[in-house]
Amino acid sequence: MSLSTGEEPQNKHVQSMFARVLFDNSYSRLPENFYVRQNPLPVERPALIHFNEALAHRFGIEFKDILQTSAGQNLLAGVFAGNIIPAGAAPLAQAYSGHQFGHFSPQLGDGRAVLLGELRDTEGTLWDIQLKGSGPTPFSRGGDGRSALGPVIREYIVSEAMARLGVPTTRSLAAVSTGEAVYRQGPLPGGILTRVAASHVRVGTFQFFASRGDHVSVRKLADYMIDRHYPEAAAAKNPYIELFLAVMARQSALVAQWMSLGFIHGVMNTDNMTISGETIDYGPCAFMDRYDPSTVFSSIDKGGRYAYGNQGKIAQWNMARLAESLLPLFDPESNRAVALAEEMVTDFAALFDRDWQSAMTAKLGFQEIEPDDKTLISDLLALMYATKADFTQTFRSLEAAVGGDVAELYGQIGQSAQAVNWREAWRSRLQHEKADIVALKERLHAVNPLYIPRNHLVEEAIAAGVERRDYGKMERLMTVLSQPYEAQQGAEDYAVPPEVEDPYYQTFCGT
Ligand code: AMP
Ligand code: MG
Repeated sequence: MSLSTGEEPQNKHVQSMFARVLFDNSYSRLPENFYVRQNPLPVERPALIHFNEALAHRFGIEFKDILQTSAGQNLLAGVFAGNIIPAGAAPLAQAYSGHQFGHFSPQLGDGRAVLLGELRDTEGTLWDIQLKGSGPTPFSRGGDGRSALGPVIREYIVSEAMARLGVPTTRSLAAVSTGEAVYRQGPLPGGILTRVAASHVRVGTFQFFASRGDHVSVRKLADYMIDRHYPEAAAAKNPYIELFLAVMARQSALVAQWMSLGFIHGVMNTDNMTISGETIDYGPCAFMDRYDPSTVFSSIDKGGRYAYGNQGKIAQWNMARLAESLLPLFDPESNRAVALAEEMVTDFAALFDRDWQSAMTAKLGFQEIEPDDKTLISDLLALMYATKADFTQTFRSLEAAVGGDVAELYGQIGQSAQAVNWREAWRSRLQHEKADIVALKERLHAVNPLYIPRNHLVEEAIAAGVERRDYGKMERLMTVLSQPYEAQQGAEDYAVPPEVEDPYYQTFCGT
């Protein structure tokens, strides 16, 4: 791959650095109604805020040398701002629809993002490289196609933290500031995020074609997804049923994992749910500090549709929308297709219940689920709710508690008769595990993180970046979050909730 800047002479070093990676553009080989070809709109003064060298290594590119000079950094900023389009890329905006807060929008699509193309990693897997905030597209519908810097920093921090926590997620390769203002309530500094995803195909992408009665395209998209993410489904008697079941399995496991970490996505619209099973679109997302299943942070989620405790049900609702889009592929006879879809979607509830239970019982140190474990989890959660316990710290305290040091645990859930009883019940249940204290501690350590991207820390990092172009806090926070399960010296403040929790904490979609 070579770079076409339009400004010669080009930096030879960059040329050779990129020379070994090749863009595939598999999405652009799909029919023309799947996308619109669209170049990013160049920005005035791109500057590199953060670059994910570890992730770049996945593509076999060595950036060490270029990052050492400011000329090199400027070149990279140009690439990740969309000013320099790498040769071989075929930028496009993807078409999709989506149910937003339950209401169907037939025409969404990438209104502020372009897919540069796909890069193959050193293991041969294709990854989408997308610029988010790269300017208007035919799908922008009045929007400016830009992103404010704040949401770029938020997505960078939270998506990378999720990856390190072990959650399937889109990744962040680079963040740049644009040197331009975007206008929301007032002027804000602009930013662009380079997002890496297994793919950006969403439930809403299927809905786009299904709602137009274009079943040929639905089938093409399904075949493309099977080929890219679920090749084992191709051998099934009905590959599309297999595809659907596989997507349900991944989404169920994903949402269960979110909940086991106290994560609230915030805007689980069908256009924000991937077919690959990755978490996508970190807009108003947030982790809760104290446990309350009704927690909602998003300013636009007035009815609490996407509250912490609703996420399993919403995932099922979204899967029903996917099933509707796939109906003709399930069975040519429509009654039979509907009956089958209903059965599969109904089964999601049990699937999710199992995934949720196994994620939560793992947090208690159990390897297999036993019938009474559900009560043990719900009793602990009830105690946590009553005592306004910190979700992350409570589970983390179990590692010490298993060895008899219960101060932290009781510090969270109190030392009431119920709390003492719970601990006794937990202790006797642990006897069923064929594991000694050391092994149990290890298990608990591996699933109960010490550090999560707490809202007040993320806000501090964003404020420093947006107000002072100071990215030191972001840097430091990301370093701590890169090892969320390991205690780090000097990082004590990162493990605790804010002294005074903001009862009105709100997050915004306004990217
Ligand atoms: P999201 O909130 O990220 O799920 O976005 C929902 C839809 O709004 C998508 O189709 C976006 O492309 C579009 N959108 C959001 N912000 C903008 C913007 N600043 N300019 C154009 N389109 C936007
Ligand atoms: Mg979206």
